[in-house]
Amino acid sequence: MNVHETRFDRPDADQGVDQLLIDRDSSFVERGAAVAATAGAEAEDVDRKGRFPKAAIDAAREQKLLGMQIPVALGGFGASIFDVTDICYALGRACASTAMIFAMHQTKVACLVRHGMGSAYHEALMRRVAAEQLLLASSTTEGQNGGNIRSSAAAVECSDEVISLVRNATVISYGAEADGIVTIARRANDAASCDQVLLAVTKENYTLERNLGWETLGMRGTCSAGFELKIEGPSSMIFSEPYERIHAQTMTPVAHLCWSSAWAGIAAAAVERAQRFIRKAARGAGGQMPPGAAHYTAARMALTRLRAMITANLDVYATHEYDERALASLDFQSAINLLKVQASELAVETVMNAMRACGLAGYRNDGEFSVGRHLRDALSAPLMINNDRVLANIATATLMSGVPAALRD
Ligand SMILES: Cc1cc2nc3c(=O)[nH]c(=O)nc-3n(C[C@H](O)[C@H](O)[C@H](O)COP(=O)(O)OP(=O)(O)OC[C@H]3O[C@@H](n4cnc5c(N)ncnc54)[C@H](O)[C@@H]3O)c2cc1C
Repeated sequence: MNVHETRFDRPDADQGVDQLLIDRDSSFVERGAAVAATAGAEAEDVDRKGRFPKAAIDAAREQKLLGMQIPVALGGFGASIFDVTDICYALGRACASTAMIFAMHQTKVACLVRHGMGSAYHEALMRRVAAEQLLLASSTTEGQNGGNIRSSAAAVECSDEVISLVRNATVISYGAEADGIVTIARRANDAASCDQVLLAVTKENYTLERNLGWETLGMRGTCSAGFELKIEGPSSMIFSEPYERIHAQTMTPVAHLCWSSAWAGIAAAAVERAQRFIRKAARGAGGQMPPGAAHYTAARMALTRLRAMITANLDVYATHEYDERALASLDFQSAINLLKVQASELAVETVMNAMRACGLAGYRNDGEFSVGRHLRDALSAPLMINNDRVLANIATATLMSGVPAALRD
């Protein structure tokens, strides 16, 4: 059994006895595996048609995984970051788009759980996420601003207790399919671009008008189109904490851990295909290893490094999850940002090695050893908040923090 595996202790109150027993007996690993099986079955079609992985997300709803992080008291399972990232990895092995949708949704839920307690609006939304298995999308990218998340153009307008916001949302993955959106905005018209708030909004309070399509190389099932996002509703939709703090404590760490786990899953799937290819080739040659075997070994090495890097960062995050000062420290912020950069590069490296191990059989878009889809999906990783931007942002911080004196510092 996985050391971080959690048993559920409180299924939804209105479920029947049978359902109650199922909930008690199913582990997150089993639930994740069930969703991964569905995701894997539709992965090629999702990629070919660039369509939303509906069956997989419906399966996640059926397994009640969309609300897994919600506290037990609010109807969820109180799942840990270990549980969530394990599922991101399992889904990444089956269908990268499903894994990324799951990863983005869980990041938004983590913000609600960590920063929404004590707010009647956000607690009610958490109850709904658990009970109705609402899918939450993310809107951070705006206009021509690229991945510069710590700067917003659109500002919240406020009159009495009602607020409104109109946002040029360049990219919202599964925007059309989501039940709610978590978005950033400038606090007010006279606020600086970095004085931001976070809002969690459900469908009743927003409209989306599509203004940009999604015809891309990979991650095609995320359906990350552009929209004009118009929000109107109660001011309680705004989180009371400034976005700056939510960004450092939750949004960045959880996004980077979940994304990296999904990318590691893609890399693992490519390694698995390369392993089958090399085994088959060796069997066909009377046990003689094919020349591409060295690339398979390189793929295994890269995957090992990738997984080690993620698990090390997971341990650090879990240790300091409730320690605001530790999360805000230069060391932690540098490490969690470098995780994104390194994990994304390693995922591409792993898949490339797997492709070279398989040769033409890997390069083909058809056949059991094809890793074309995996490569196209993995190539999104260094761009998704561009690594150049991340590295430029942390350059000063890495200069200021000391070089470790001991191995385990
Ligand atoms: C699969 C996928 C799903 C996505 N889903 C969402 C979503 O749901 N919601 C959302 O809001 N966004 C989403 N995004 C967008 C993502 O979060 C980034 O905003 C986007 O990828 C950045 O786009 P960009 O490369 O055009 O912009 P930029 O980050 O501006 O990069 C453009 C170019 O400028 C360079 N550059 C930028 N800054 C620097 C710097 N400081 N130093 C050196 N070079 C620099 C980069 O190297 C790059 O070549 C998604 C992206 C992908 C790939």
